[in-house]
Amino acid sequence: MLLFTPGPTPIPEFMRMAMSEPTIHHRTLEFESLFAKVRAGLKEILKMREVLMLASSGSGAMEACVTSLCTKKLLSVNSGKFGERFGKIAKAFNIPLIEIKNEWDTPVSLESILQVLKDNPDIDAFCMQVCESAGGLRHPYEEITKAIKAYNPNIMIIIDGITAMGVEPLEVSYVDALIGGSQKAFMLPPGMSIIGISQAAIAKIEERNIGFYFNLKTELKNQVKNTTAWTAPTTIIIGLYTFLEKLQEKGIDRLYQQTRARALATNAAMEGIGLRIYPKTPALAMTTIFNESSEDLRRILKNDFGVNVAGGQDHLKGKIFRINHMGFIALNEISWVINAIELSLERLEVRKFDGRANQIFLQKYYEMM
Ligand SMILES: *Cc1c(COP(=O)(O)O)cnc(C)c1O
Repeated sequence: MLLFTPGPTPIPEFMRMAMSEPTIHHRTLEFESLFAKVRAGLKEILKMREVLMLASSGSGAMEACVTSLCTKKLLSVNSGKFGERFGKIAKAFNIPLIEIKNEWDTPVSLESILQVLKDNPDIDAFCMQVCESAGGLRHPYEEITKAIKAYNPNIMIIIDGITAMGVEPLEVSYVDALIGGSQKAFMLPPGMSIIGISQAAIAKIEERNIGFYFNLKTELKNQVKNTTAWTAPTTIIIGLYTFLEKLQEKGIDRLYQQTRARALATNAAMEGIGLRIYPKTPALAMTTIFNESSEDLRRILKNDFGVNVAGGQDHLKGKIFRINHMGFIALNEISWVINAIELSLERLEVRKFDGRANQIFLQKYYEMM
């Protein structure tokens, strides 16, 4: 079965092999030396002042950032499940919240954000996704974070880049916390989150000193010394080390270029056989198709062609399907997925198969490579 869901993503063999070695103890020089290399590698990719790794899924890092960086009122962008999650975190901790809600295919507008900031001078933290995975939507976070800092540089900016980190180069000049997760473009097992933090965020974290397990001050104090506050997810960190090594060898720009070409060529191929891209501004992490027969399509893809793509949630359940582009993906695999989708449309008596999708995909892909 080809796993083509936008998280978890398949773990390449070289990483599975590395992670099958005997467990190492986390309070050893061996682990500290490995952790130091992983920290350095991540800092280079994220281009942020510091980096923290937590033994939690991405939501744990979202929670830690909200509690550590917001003291008065949070402004959150909700264009889907993950934007909604920031709001739920604020509510769980009784943090006053203003939410800007849009349909899941619609990027947030800068004007709406600036208006809320003017009406609520007590907002001291802002959070949003780069890619809202619920609908495969790309928000214009660059111009938004820049405008917020220009309006009030004291507002802490928390960016969920879980489906953007390792997908495209990220502009972090106006970001205080950039969140990532192991099971997306890093192609690791679920269970570890990553936070890139700015100098201003470090100051805030130290002043706040909040929480216990998710106390970022405690983590920071330990991680700058190449150790962790609690038992580290050693196996995932070993896997991450091999990923970073591979990236060094391949070049991260090459990974970004391939991901971009794959995503844009897939979108073109899908449109070329009459399918509709759901988001108004699609992210590169995944191709999201709006189709009323999504459940039938996914069933045929799985049963007849051995391809697993993701469906939709809540009001988009049964109405969209999502194809992953994150990570190192073999061209023959995505090419097969595209073929299988075209074949499935024939089985649904929507369109006769003529190989058009793959023709467009390969042509567009090589134009961009
Ligand atoms: C996957 C994902 C998360 C994290 O979810 P977890 O289940 O906690 O790992 C957060 N934000 C986005 C945009 C995601 O795609």
